[in-house]
Amino acid sequence: MGVLIVGTIGLDTVETPFGKKNEILGGSAIHAGISSSFYADTAICGVVGVDFPKKHLDFLKSKKIDISGIQVVPGETFRWSGYYEYDMNQAHTRDTRLNVYTMFDPKLPEKLKSAQFVFLANLDPELQLKVLDQLEKPTLVAMDTMDFWINNKRDALREVIKRVDFVLMNDGEARHFMETPNIPIAAKKLLKLGAKAVIIKKGEHGALLFTDKLHFSAPSYPQDMLRDPTGAGDSFAGGFMGYLAKTNDMSEKNIRRAIIVGSVMASFNVEDFSLDRMKRLKHEEIFTRFDEFRCFSEFESLSEKEAKNV
Ligand code: AMP
Repeated sequence: MGVLIVGTIGLDTVETPFGKKNEILGGSAIHAGISSSFYADTAICGVVGVDFPKKHLDFLKSKKIDISGIQVVPGETFRWSGYYEYDMNQAHTRDTRLNVYTMFDPKLPEKLKSAQFVFLANLDPELQLKVLDQLEKPTLVAMDTMDFWINNKRDALREVIKRVDFVLMNDGEARHFMETPNIPIAAKKLLKLGAKAVIIKKGEHGALLFTDKLHFSAPSYPQDMLRDPTGAGDSFAGGFMGYLAKTNDMSEKNIRRAIIVGSVMASFNVEDFSLDRMKRLKHEEIFTRFDEFRCFSEFESLSEKEAKNV
């Protein structure tokens, strides 16, 4: 098993300056799972109600995603509704209906317990802890969260952070959770809670990696096609985890590459609503954009002579 992703599977109602879509496929596990599936065998664990359209499960199967960890139970599927204004880095939640997630007991099928790469996508941190308890010996575990859980389940969230390798958060959430306006300080505080590495996602402005020893900054992409930023963070995480699972190389050099792969996947996901762009995405396009990212941030050192004149 390559990558196991546990998170929400839902129906989103999204409004952006480019239109409004009702009840489209969404959820943190879906965006992350589809992105990861470009690189590695991927399994999704979550819950849906009996109202969840079968075509969405068929879509996951068509991408060869293992859905044995998706429970279908009586009740209504998770729903999130939100809107974006011209600053599309900021999602405004109108409504969150946890529905079947209030009764969700994430029991991993036996074969998923041995997953080597595990992403605990945005989900109730108490459920994230239940998943952590079932894992056998993962190589790498990463987690994500959002304001909703920072406000409602702060202590459980701290517990999860203690037990994972990578913490992924967007800049606003990290500031809010660590109660500081300063991102490097927020990252340091997250490391102090027990995470081995922290990735701060800054929407269209790139991503930052912090560990005790190193710092890396992924460039922003000049995104001229941006229709719906929902799921950008999750597709980042899915690409990051999928690439690490595929290469099975945890060197610093490869982690930097994985962060760029994550950035590439997020940059595609935001080009259309729901998973529409990911459905059309081709591997050649990923390769070309990866190289564009490299060129944007490549520059040479100053020579000794030049350095004296700066
Ligand atoms: P993001 O990558 O942060 O844009 O994640 C977007 C996805 O998160 C949407 O498709 C929503 O269905 C899902 N979502 C929204 N609120 C929550 C929540 N409180 N917990 C878990 N998932 C959520």
